[in-house]
Amino acid sequence: MNSTTQRRIALISVHGDPAIEIGKEEAGGQNVYVRNVGEALGQLGWQVDMFTRKVSAKQETIVQHSENCRTIRLQAGELEFVPRDDLFEYLPEFIDNFLQFQAENGFKYDLIHTNYWLSSWVGMQLKKIQGSKQVHTYHSLGAVKYNTIENIPLIASQRLIVEKQVLETAERIVATSPQEKEHMREFVSLEGNIDIIPCGTDIRQFGRIDREAARAELGIASDAKVVMYVGRFDPRKGIETLVRAVAQSKLKGQENLQLIIGGGSVPGQSDGIERDRIESIVKELGISDITTFPGRLSQEILPTYYAAADVSVVPSHYEPFGLVAIEAMACSTPVVASDVGGLQYTVVPEETGLLAPPQDVDAFAAAIDRILLNPEWARKLGKGGRKRVESKFSWDGVATQLSELYTELLQPQPVAATAMELVQSTAELVQSTAKELVN
Ligand code: UDP
Repeated sequence: MNSTTQRRIALISVHGDPAIEIGKEEAGGQNVYVRNVGEALGQLGWQVDMFTRKVSAKQETIVQHSENCRTIRLQAGELEFVPRDDLFEYLPEFIDNFLQFQAENGFKYDLIHTNYWLSSWVGMQLKKIQGSKQVHTYHSLGAVKYNTIENIPLIASQRLIVEKQVLETAERIVATSPQEKEHMREFVSLEGNIDIIPCGTDIRQFGRIDREAARAELGIASDAKVVMYVGRFDPRKGIETLVRAVAQSKLKGQENLQLIIGGGSVPGQSDGIERDRIESIVKELGISDITTFPGRLSQEILPTYYAAADVSVVPSHYEPFGLVAIEAMACSTPVVASDVGGLQYTVVPEETGLLAPPQDVDAFAAAIDRILLNPEWARKLGKGGRKRVESKFSWDGVATQLSELYTELLQPQPVAATAMELVQSTAELVQSTAKELVN
């Protein structure tokens, strides 16, 4: 293996295309993670190829993001959107096309970092076929998710088996929070090697604009009290808890209370259906006049929204990490989040925001009001959040930790030394056994 092949890595994200618009159905944290990790690793000198599934003939097959980082789209099944729960059967074709891509380009990836359980299966097959080493990030654990939803999909049992296999066989699993690691141990397996390396955010982009300028840009009055949500429209995101909490805020009825619910959706698809459901609850609660739905917010405009808000709310039923919380904190905005998963790691109660039990409308209302009614304290929380993100959650820092991990895994195994150690330790064992026998 020469030094060029040593620094080449494949990131595999079958259903989460790192090159597409974020904020629509099935495009969220995973896409952002893969794209940002890929670009940051490219900056560190890695040749990064991010493989994903092509969903339309109109999509380019290769998208070059920067000198060392590109997205490569492989065909697996028809060129159309397929929900992730229906993708498993197309994975063998994905692998064939991956192998063909390697053959055409005259190299093979010695290290593969897979994302989500579907890609982990691809990685495990590539390990068998060509001995690639595997790093895996789950993004979501079936064993935890199926505890929080009512309709368990058909693919669930397959997913649970694959998630256990990858934990036990990958060279390294990346947990993005200590809570996620605990869940792996509690619900998946006691075997396998887990490192904790968090998700990150772009601390130059998030935090580039202050509150006053942000409000001027968005036309929000300086005395308005702005509560904000951004994320996918999915019942598990708990948007219903948020709207019910705002409807019972002490500030309701005052003209300056505003609720912004950002996120993309397509009418008739699952996110469109959830958006309709939320809009009808908003109407029912009589808060339509203070609620706006700006639709999908691009990563470019998001810092302005976060900075303009008094509080960013993450009311998820469960969240393995929760990028939105650290993005808001990077913009010096206090966060009110569910007391679950990675949010318990990112949000420090009373220091960067507040935590409330998931789906507990009263607790969310009280936490939101505490922040809205104490602007000075809110500013302190905002500063605390920014500080925490700067020290722990920048993409550059995350990519450096991943780079060190990859480098360690790609080290050639010191076979000769190991053999020598074995000979020595066997000799020592023989000597000590002989001594015991003599005594
Ligand atoms: N996002 C966005 N625009 C939107 C909605 C969401 O850019 O309209 C981004 C958001 O900024 C974050 C990601 O999508 O980076 C959501 O990640 P998170 O981990 O919070 O949730 P997930 O989607 O993975 O469940």
